[in-house]
Amino acid sequence: MTGAAGARGRILLVEDNDTIRAAFAVLLEESGYEVVQAEDGAGAIEVARDALPHLILMDLGLPDASGLDVTRSLKSDPATAPIPVIAITGRALETDQAACMAAGCAGYLAKPVDTQQLLSAIPEYMGTRADRE
Ligand code: MN
Repeated sequence: MTGAAGARGRILLVEDNDTIRAAFAVLLEESGYEVVQAEDGAGAIEVARDALPHLILMDLGLPDASGLDVTRSLKSDPATAPIPVIAITGRALETDQAACMAAGCAGYLAKPVDTQQLLSAIPEYMGTRADRE
């Protein structure tokens, strides 16, 4: 542990794969973040509104929606619009990165996600929150 649980901020982890979600949750919690979770797009919007996380990690392949559509919904709601979204996808094509940015994502990571890259990206993107500076 690097500090009190959740001391570094609250992250919403949106991922439909239980194994990946559990592994990321442990990694983030051990790094000092509070983690809230959702396994589909509807859940992501509900938890984002309830928990108002400081950052969202968004799997793009969800069972009920594209993570890009979920991101667009979050960006259209003033309550959740300022929250930076990092897209996580297995399709590492440049066109996907452009689509992520167009949908309002702050960043983009390709699967398999390098955990050190993820942990170093999080504080960087938390600082991009639109209403924080
Ligand atoms: Mn998925």
